[in-house]
Amino acid sequence: HSRKTIKENKETSKGTAVVIGGGLVGALCVCILASRGYTVTMYEKRSDLRKSAFTRGRSINLALSHRGRKALKLIGLETKVLEGAIPMKGRLLHCKRGNTAAVLYDPVNKQNIYSVGRNYLNQVLLDAAEKYEGTTLLFSHKLQSVNLMENTITLWNEKTNENITVTADLIIGADGAFSCMRNYMQKQLLFSYSQKYIEHGYLELSIPRERGDKMEKNHLHIWPRGTFMMIALPNQDGSWTVTLFMPFEKFHSLTTQAELLTFFSDIFPDSLDLIGKKELVETYFSNEPSPLLSVKCSQFHMGDKFLIIGDAAHAMVPFYGQGMNAGFEDCAYLNKILDQTKDNIKDAIEIFTKTRKDDVHVICDLALYNYTEMCDLVTTRTFKIRKCIDNI
Ligand code: FAD
Repeated sequence: HSRKTIKENKETSKGTAVVIGGGLVGALCVCILASRGYTVTMYEKRSDLRKSAFTRGRSINLALSHRGRKALKLIGLETKVLEGAIPMKGRLLHCKRGNTAAVLYDPVNKQNIYSVGRNYLNQVLLDAAEKYEGTTLLFSHKLQSVNLMENTITLWNEKTNENITVTADLIIGADGAFSCMRNYMQKQLLFSYSQKYIEHGYLELSIPRERGDKMEKNHLHIWPRGTFMMIALPNQDGSWTVTLFMPFEKFHSLTTQAELLTFFSDIFPDSLDLIGKKELVETYFSNEPSPLLSVKCSQFHMGDKFLIIGDAAHAMVPFYGQGMNAGFEDCAYLNKILDQTKDNIKDAIEIFTKTRKDDVHVICDLALYNYTEMCDLVTTRTFKIRKCIDNI
């Protein structure tokens, strides 16, 4: 067990910062703190995704909106990210008989949201983080424990099988929905916390590149079906990532190939040839649906140096497409408060809790609400208006 002090160039650095988690929000946070002049060390429990083979995981692509773009712009990455993204100008609704209806997001100003690959975005952010002077990115380092009294954290280095204990002026937990840092904060007095799993899970399917051009471009496709739905977002290579959201009960009720194919041909008939029957059966029966949860905390900071951001502070269900965007906004907002407080970290993290909490709680609630909207309301409205409702 070794104890380390982060090396700081006293002449140029504003102070030291540690960021736990090198996911989307953690990597952006490193860039923003480094651009302010902090000496930043990032610890990520996984190996460097830029050097490892692709692993199947959570949502391959995400919708990037104005909120997230503004944060990327701060560090000059907006253009680079948008170069690798696909604009989506609206929703394209598929009803049961195969007819479709487009609903533009912004018919007046013609703004888009963008479909961007999770890995691509994470890579761009890690590459950028590495280029700042004074940043160190350490992978295969897992946060094990947090000593809130002594202001230290202990990490396990998977490669050397050693524990290290470190401290810094600012310690940020961007370690996702099951945050280890939050776990320690939760045990302190007056820290309220709630976690809610919804009864729906999700499973990712795909429309391969060869058949991708049969889908109307530049839209987020939705197959809304009342109590469940399927969506598809475009990828750069012409393929589409399809996500089926359904109650776990429904997932588990489809136990044979025949049941699955009948279900799809009854409920999502136009998607069957696009996904492909063989591919559908293979993916469906070799993957478990993943759960979805919403997390709320009464505060995001602790003491005078600990702060949680992104999913660690406010994981939300994905139906508003705002989890990452809100996490990116956390980073931009922290930057703004550090400006206001002239980098007084104690004041900044307290203000962060006070002024950010209501906004992120609202977006968590809106995300839950938008599930009903996407499954049901949007359809009834759109198809009723266009008089083409056909027992969806
Ligand atoms: P994460 O992405 O979870 O990253 C956390 C990082 O911390 C990981 O790299 C992890 O390995 C690391 N870590 C965890 N524990 C430790 C530890 N103990 N020590 C060190 N490192 C650790 N959001 C959108 O804005 N738009 C969308 O369209 C969208 N679609 C979604 C679709 C689905 C199906 C899902 C599930 C989510 C979606 N989201 C979307 C939400 C988005 O994925 C999350 O909000 C975003 O990934 C949060 O980023 P994060 O960096 O806070 O957490």
